[in-house]
Amino acid sequence: MFEKIKDFIGLGKNSSMQDEVLEQELGFSSLGKFNLGAGSIGPANRTDIDQNFLNDMYKRLANGEFNKTVVSTVPVICVDGRTRADGTRIDGPSAAGGSLTMVYGSDLGNPEAQTEKTELQLTTEIINTLKQKGFETSVHGDNHSSCGCGACAKARDVYQHIANNIDNIIKLASQYCINISDEEKSIMVKRAHQRLQQPNFFHENRSSILKAAQENGANYEELVSAHNELGIALNTRAGTTVDRAAIRAAFGPQYDIFVVDAWTFNSAAKELINSDNDQSIALIAKAIAVQNVATASVLGHASLPIIPIT
Ligand SMILES: [Zn+2]
Repeated sequence: MFEKIKDFIGLGKNSSMQDEVLEQELGFSSLGKFNLGAGSIGPANRTDIDQNFLNDMYKRLANGEFNKTVVSTVPVICVDGRTRADGTRIDGPSAAGGSLTMVYGSDLGNPEAQTEKTELQLTTEIINTLKQKGFETSVHGDNHSSCGCGACAKARDVYQHIANNIDNIIKLASQYCINISDEEKSIMVKRAHQRLQQPNFFHENRSSILKAAQENGANYEELVSAHNELGIALNTRAGTTVDRAAIRAAFGPQYDIFVVDAWTFNSAAKELINSDNDQSIALIAKAIAVQNVATASVLGHASLPIIPIT
């Protein structure tokens, strides 16, 4: 089996054949299956990976072998697979942009949100709301760029990606039991278009968003080196996240994974709106999911597999 996979998951191999092997042999779909994955991060662009190690990593990840417990019930840190210079990360669940996932999710999924506000104002508001409720918040950069968080640096591209590719994003989400209705879809797409057309909604200086979050109490971590993510862990085990350091210890420093703690989306949505209406809460949760998928698709390559941890 491994020989066959090795043949197919090589650099420059046909990605649809690779998709087939991932799906049939290992049971994992890649972004390419949904016509997503416009970025470059993914196994097909790597020459430093042992395919047997890689497939072993996927299987052990899916088994929950690298899960560890966390205290927070809302996303705290970014999906980014990298660590700080000492090999650690802030402890907490992960979603695209860390606390910023809740800024974009509550914007895209709340039809009543005030549309004249800017991303900077929304960031300030959400960080303060979370702080008042006693939640830790955080953002990150890295040691070599002015805005080292892809979810923040490319927030405009992510909204554009949602506007252009919502049907593919919805197809992916539905494979993992996140079902988005036509009405919910039109609310999110309408908001994405509004923001893309609103002058100065997205701040030109992307690091100013990270700075605004920090000035309002968010923690900051500086991640180091290049993106080495080889998959997207879609974790639905409540109260846990994936231990990035444990994966590196098992396979090597170049084996990283994006971590999406999808179990937090609903609890985050509940904290973000003043409503007990289940549909309104679900819509925010789904908008957070859409922002996470779109961010993965903007940054990730079609060869990037999704590894559900159930
Ligand atoms: Zn990030």
